[in-house]
Amino acid sequence: MKLFDWLLDLIYPPRCAFCRRLLDRREKGVCRFCRPKLPYVPADGQVQHFRNVDKCLSPLYYHGSVKDSLHRYKFGGATAYADIYSEFIVKCIDENQISCDSITWVPLSRRRLRKRGYDQAELLAKLIAKHLGQRPVRLLKKLRDTPPQSQTGSAEKRRANIAGAYACLRPERVQGKRILLVDDIVTTGATLSEAAKVLKKAGAKEVICATLARSLR
Ligand SMILES: [Zn+2]
Repeated sequence: MKLFDWLLDLIYPPRCAFCRRLLDRREKGVCRFCRPKLPYVPADGQVQHFRNVDKCLSPLYYHGSVKDSLHRYKFGGATAYADIYSEFIVKCIDENQISCDSITWVPLSRRRLRKRGYDQAELLAKLIAKHLGQRPVRLLKKLRDTPPQSQTGSAEKRRANIAGAYACLRPERVQGKRILLVDDIVTTGATLSEAAKVLKKAGAKEVICATLARSLR
């Protein structure tokens, strides 16, 4: 362990990303109580299909301690959670035998990014790419600020809210490629569908999405 990490652990002892219990040295990111009882999605429910999205993988349900944890990750600055989140996502990618040519993410608008200070999906994409021996590529740009999907209501309203919000930045890196598109949560799939549509229009051969959590249906 590097001295800097050791000092950080001393000042901010690592806590479970889900219940915030102090972790002992053998536990990484999640405590031994939470690990066996997180709301895991059964193997046959991990893959969902949405318009323009060939497959969408999620290892956990957006429920209970996962919901609270993601809230702290997105709005409370708990960026260190990206480590354990990306481990769960990579395991799900491996178990479903997914391979890809490029890894990218659903970006925040510039305004939201400035306000939050970090892009939670980009952090995940970076760590997932590292696990898979790749580098993430910024392929999408959010053109305008949209009200949060979680406050938008019906599936139809969500689709309208996000329509036309993304543009492809580097079509030459998309054409003929199988793209892994990362986000933190999927609920109705409206956001992922819209982002995937832009990639498909730019010539992507396949768009596979990966999120930490999916909503209970
Ligand atoms: Zn815990």
